[in-house]
Amino acid sequence: MSTSAGQSGPNGVVIVGGGLAAARTAEQLRRSEYSGPVTIVSDEDHLPYDRPPLSKEVLRAETDDVTLKPAEFYAENDITVLLGNGARAVDTAAQTLTLADGTQLPYDELVIATGLVPKRIPSFPDLPGIHVLRNFDESLALRKEAATAKHAVVVGAGFIGCEVAASLRKLGVDVVLVEPQPAPLASVLGEQIGELITRLHRAEGVDVRCGVGVAGVQGDDRVRKVTLSDGAEVDADVVIVGIGSRPNTDWLEGSGISVDNGVVCDDAGRGSAPHVWAIGDVASWRDQVGGQVRVEHWSNVADQARVLVPTMLGQQPASAVTVPYFWSDQYDVKIQALGEPEATDTVHIVEDDGRKFLAYYERDGVVVGVVGGGFPGKVMKTRNKIASGAQISELLG
Ligand SMILES: Cc1cc2nc3c(=O)[nH]c(=O)nc-3n(C[C@H](O)[C@H](O)[C@H](O)COP(=O)(O)OP(=O)(O)OC[C@H]3O[C@@H](n4cnc5c(N)ncnc54)[C@H](O)[C@@H]3O)c2cc1C
Repeated sequence: MSTSAGQSGPNGVVIVGGGLAAARTAEQLRRSEYSGPVTIVSDEDHLPYDRPPLSKEVLRAETDDVTLKPAEFYAENDITVLLGNGARAVDTAAQTLTLADGTQLPYDELVIATGLVPKRIPSFPDLPGIHVLRNFDESLALRKEAATAKHAVVVGAGFIGCEVAASLRKLGVDVVLVEPQPAPLASVLGEQIGELITRLHRAEGVDVRCGVGVAGVQGDDRVRKVTLSDGAEVDADVVIVGIGSRPNTDWLEGSGISVDNGVVCDDAGRGSAPHVWAIGDVASWRDQVGGQVRVEHWSNVADQARVLVPTMLGQQPASAVTVPYFWSDQYDVKIQALGEPEATDTVHIVEDDGRKFLAYYERDGVVVGVVGGGFPGKVMKTRNKIASGAQISELLG
């Protein structure tokens, strides 16, 4: 595992990736008074931007403004941002990156923040109209087609699939949401909550088909129909594949950096090679019980930056206890999860007005999480109970 960077070194910290994790790491370096060079290397042409709006406001054409920090921020903080020239290899012995155009970039400390690659369905032909959604340009491309589409098929009812279905409905598109599991998000939040999410989408006119997969797509110059595994054929002017993502680590092949469902790190983000760190969706950090956990949620990134950067600089990281959190906006309902709810937990639904809901998750008598749909205040009020490992009886009264 690597040693600390301190303040020295002519090459400074090089961050590979142009998203939230890269931006947060650079910000945190300056906040921690690191005065050496900071360079962000991105394969995208845009300054680091926020992804949550891509399936929400951007897709619905409500905004195009997703940039996390303006160009002036990077200039004022002396942070170099290299765009459109991703890293394609790293030599950890020479402490050098090779960029897509062949440039060699030396580093004192390397932070890997390359996020995820959306999974595709290998048997699908490469037809216009079939989309994945991970970056800004993909959101704009889908938005353009959604403007004239009548029928959409969303494959996969995870968070992104559900949000895309909701946004397309708001745009007036007929949506079939296809999910092989018994209910949306069943493997993450359990079937009970999955049923409530199904109800929400059906109330908005989404044709939710659970327990079926896709068998194929048909088209000519573009996609026209999707055949489901139960033999049903559904019209499709656009198809969105939202079946999950994998860590973006192919470029690390041959580097010797340990990768196993993400870049393997200790509990402060140190990778297996000296002077190598990883953060964000691509990073698998050791947890308190010695397991490896990779989190794909927005708020986790800043939490990790507050640990990784001070550790890298040889400073004491803040030891604030953070309770994991994520949200998903579907129609007017903000779905929020606090803590570590799992599908196998006992779920206590304590509020349900036919649309909005609130549920506590119990494991061995202890409250481990709360999931709310449309109850932001009540979700947040449970934070201390979850952090302190309170008995479920304290919440159920
Ligand atoms: C559509 C969508 C909606 C979301 N909604 C929510 C939400 O509502 N709530 C929530 O909690 N989370 C949400 N998330 C998740 C959240 O956005 C992520 O957790 C967050 O973006 C992770 O940041 P990251 O920097 O690790 O990865 P990313 O934001 O993916 O950034 C990785 C960057 O690295 C670049 N890159 C990849 N390879 C290279 C390379 N070799 N060289 C240089 N650059 C490279 C990529 O192009 C990209 O710019 C959403 C994600 C998406 C895609």
